[in-house]
Amino acid sequence: MESGVSDIYRNVPIEFPDYLRDESRQIGYADSISFPSTEQQVSEHLKEMSAARRPVTTQGARTGITGGAVPYGGHILNLARLKNILTFNDSDDGASITVQAGLSLAELREAVREASRGRFFFPPDPTETSASLGGMIACNASGARTFLYGATRRYVARLRVILSDGAILQLARNEQKCRGQSFQLESECGRVVAGVIPGYRMPGIKSAAGYYVKPEMDLIDLFVGSEGTLGVITEAELRLKPSPRVLVGALVFLDSSQDAIRLVQALKRQPAAALEYFDSHALDLLRTEHHATALTLPGARRAALYIEYHAGSDEESENQLGQLADSAAEIGCSLEDAVVATDEGQMQRLKDFRHAVPEAVNRLVAERKKTAPGITKLGTDLAVPDQFLPGFMVLYQEGLARLGLEHVIFGHIGDNHLHVNIIPRNQEEYERGRGLYLEWAREAVRVGGTVAAEHGIGKLKRDLLLQMYGREAIDQMQSLKKCFDPDGLLNRGNLFPPGSDSYA
Ligand SMILES: Cc1cc2nc3c(=O)[nH]c(=O)nc-3n(C[C@H](O)[C@H](O)[C@H](O)COP(=O)(O)OP(=O)(O)OC[C@H]3O[C@@H](n4cnc5c(N)ncnc54)[C@H](O)[C@@H]3O)c2cc1C
Repeated sequence: MESGVSDIYRNVPIEFPDYLRDESRQIGYADSISFPSTEQQVSEHLKEMSAARRPVTTQGARTGITGGAVPYGGHILNLARLKNILTFNDSDDGASITVQAGLSLAELREAVREASRGRFFFPPDPTETSASLGGMIACNASGARTFLYGATRRYVARLRVILSDGAILQLARNEQKCRGQSFQLESECGRVVAGVIPGYRMPGIKSAAGYYVKPEMDLIDLFVGSEGTLGVITEAELRLKPSPRVLVGALVFLDSSQDAIRLVQALKRQPAAALEYFDSHALDLLRTEHHATALTLPGARRAALYIEYHAGSDEESENQLGQLADSAAEIGCSLEDAVVATDEGQMQRLKDFRHAVPEAVNRLVAERKKTAPGITKLGTDLAVPDQFLPGFMVLYQEGLARLGLEHVIFGHIGDNHLHVNIIPRNQEEYERGRGLYLEWAREAVRVGGTVAAEHGIGKLKRDLLLQMYGREAIDQMQSLKKCFDPDGLLNRGNLFPPGSDSYA
């Protein structure tokens, strides 16, 4: 340990090797790391780095899959110890909880359950419950229940954010807004940050690609989804929803991806909380990884859907299951081997099954990296408007078959947001997979979709952001960043290539 501020550790590659990577399996490099446990320490560490003009990479739980938390030199600010639960508020305006940014989603859920005695819950559910709230807000994470409840942004009521020079901003929803495209914010120490927000138009579907911008926008939204490039989130007040009285999950096995799409189209007319898809390769992967799931998967079935219903009464819940049975019958699908969960233990088994798919892919990629160190997982995060879902399913399947690439397709089919995970066997397959991914992204942008619906851009998808918005918009995003972080110290390499402007 050494430095002007205590708790700054050097020798990162040897003592803290795991902190050089996230779940993308990309490996970075850094000179020092700190684990602040108070907001004041975060501010002090940032001041010190700013004075020395050293870049800083913020880390939550490093479950991100776009390399966002992977350092490209300089200092790592790891927020895992900034995890206090500050207040729980239950008033006529609704319930909220205020927590520090390093708290995990699992810990938050537990705290909400305890404080509200089960009456409220926090809806965003990005599958990986070890993710931190700071990371979820920085990426505007979503997940299976986004289909009904929306993404993390909707639940962020107040934020405390530390800028690169240590200045502290307090942002509250509805309190600081843009005038047209102009904005002005004042930090607690009186630093004024003013500028103009970019003029590009975001797609009309869920998206986590680049900054969230709209004329007259609420300025808190600039920070949600900004991937740590504007400031470090230390604290958040999060809105909660009343817990549904009855929760039911159903895992339905089908004979083909076409059957899955037809059932999804029928189910979209009903109020499901989640509609998730698994292709035959995802099912096969779990069949070969014997311990990955506690469920027995029927041998002959080629696709599956996970459907979750939230209801206010048993009667409503029964109606929902009845509608599912009717929709399946309408399109000639049998539900004989469906797994229906009605209590917490059974629900957890279905959630573990859902989580096991990306986990199994990540394990396989880590294994392959031993012989092909240059590869990473090639996981798409494209979403498209409703009417393009069937065409995209065909586009994915034909492209993958044409190039003979090993893969699984799974994810948020209710939002037309499928994750195609290409699992390259070598560097050559990796390059071919990247080419295919770019083709799909171009097509998604052409039809009004997004290149990153929930994982963000990080360091691995910058070319896709450029493809989506074009050079002029990227320049405007960089100008916005400069207002908050004039020396370009925060999360260098996220959204923009390092050295792509005068920061170099
Ligand atoms: C198995 C698996 C399944 C997943 N499924 C989903 C899914 O369904 N939906 C989904 O949205 N995501 C999913 N993810 C991705 C990931 O869990 C989310 O992106 C999550 O929000 C990242 O949180 P984290 O704390 O791990 O952030 P990190 O990985 O540590 O960081 C992510 C980004 O946020 C920035 N950041 C972190 N904390 C802060 C802070 N306090 N202030 C400012 N910037 C910060 C980092 O610099 C980085 O750019 C999945 C990941 C895994 C491994």
